[in-house]
Amino acid sequence: MREYDIVIIGGGPAGLAAAVAARDNGIESILILERDKELGGILNQCIHNGFGLHTFKEELTGPEYAARFAAQVFARNIEYKLNTMVMDISPQKVVTAMNREEGLFEIQAKAVILAMGCRERSRGALNIPGYRPAGIFSAGTAQRLVNMEGYMPGREVVILGSGDIGLIMARRMTLEGAKVKVVAELMPYSGGLKRNIVQCLDDYGIPLKLSHTVVDIRGKERLTGITLAAVDEKGRPIPGTEEDYDCDTLLLSVGLIPENELSNGMGVEMSRVTSGPVVNESLETSVEGVFACGNVLHVHDLVDFVSEEAAAAGKNAAKYVKGAGTGSGHVIELKAVDGVRYTVPCTIDPERMEDTQIVRFRVGNVFKNCAIGVYFDDEQVMKRKRPVMAPGEMEEIKLEKGKLQLHPGLKTITIKVEEV
Ligand SMILES: Cc1cc2nc3c(=O)[nH]c(=O)nc-3n(C[C@H](O)[C@H](O)[C@H](O)COP(=O)(O)OP(=O)(O)OC[C@H]3O[C@@H](n4cnc5c(N)ncnc54)[C@H](O)[C@@H]3O)c2cc1C
Repeated sequence: MREYDIVIIGGGPAGLAAAVAARDNGIESILILERDKELGGILNQCIHNGFGLHTFKEELTGPEYAARFAAQVFARNIEYKLNTMVMDISPQKVVTAMNREEGLFEIQAKAVILAMGCRERSRGALNIPGYRPAGIFSAGTAQRLVNMEGYMPGREVVILGSGDIGLIMARRMTLEGAKVKVVAELMPYSGGLKRNIVQCLDDYGIPLKLSHTVVDIRGKERLTGITLAAVDEKGRPIPGTEEDYDCDTLLLSVGLIPENELSNGMGVEMSRVTSGPVVNESLETSVEGVFACGNVLHVHDLVDFVSEEAAAAGKNAAKYVKGAGTGSGHVIELKAVDGVRYTVPCTIDPERMEDTQIVRFRVGNVFKNCAIGVYFDDEQVMKRKRPVMAPGEMEEIKLEKGKLQLHPGLKTITIKVEEV
């Protein structure tokens, strides 16, 4: 069986940044396994700009951003295999993969980095009544068809879901000559970034109907129209509010699901909130030597944060391979309460953490003129005012090692939304 120090599953932005960081931290033997025919992940189909403002201080398209990281991988001669699907990872870190040239093969890894990204929730998960005519696509599929394959999915479009991909596709379809009639959103707030609502809907006069959903789909062979209805606070359609729209295309942008079949298969402990692995300060999962980063860990809003997080995973995997100790055994639990849905990481060992530890999280509602409160056990240690917080935007706080070391018996760090 072939052996590598670090095997990285997925060659998207997370996998690439993790590989570069692992090499820069002294690991020679690295292999990236990618099922697609090129590196770069989902960014290859995101041809709009707006990527890289944090990382490169310039506005890049998705493929340009991915190419910057791919170039770093090539410059370091890091090994990768394309068209290679990872089928299984054992708890002993035996990776089973297959491709056309080699068939089914196994690799023994000392450390594994999970970077499989996420996939879109499909119509099947929504239970919308009606036939199953052609013309219903996930927004990401439509994005791939338009941007990579050169096909137009339709001309008269309704979009369900106001996550970033739905918003981006409203603009993209308009630029390609389609009429986007409306974007409907079940929640009373958009799931996307504010900047995307302004730049993709407002600038093109596309209406956004909050607290609305699709209650009927018409057409047998091809979609001919849909019915929208307002929903109450429990998301139930309100009778008498139905409105019909004629359209040949319905795009669904109704959430992303981290691709964790492999993680589940190897027995990694999962978070019910993020659907990603539970990780410690080193982004290490409950299986020793297995790290996770990017959208497989939790769905990110900006790819810049994916790259930053993945670099940390790569560095920590390198430390693990080089025999870094298992830490002090002092584990501080992070608790997300009062409007905060989750935190990544979930635990911190103050011995193993970097001088500064970034903790990322999302809130579960729109909060205006509130604050993020951080508590070491019962003592408040941070209160940061935030004019607006929304579920579509990831939040972060930074914890300093020096401050944690001043609290030797600390058991819990609590993060919550509170009044100013
Ligand atoms: C449709 C879509 C559009 C998006 N648009 C934007 C946008 O406009 N702006 C933005 O900032 N973010 C966007 N995102 C979010 C974007 O996914 C992340 O910012 C970033 O691409 C995440 O990087 P990643 O490496 O974690 O995941 P990905 O980019 O998804 O990369 C994961 C890689 O792992 C590979 N893989 C998965 N399973 C296996 C396996 N078993 N074996 C081998 N390889 C495997 C996949 O083929 C893929 O290449 C979009 C996401 C989606 C799904």
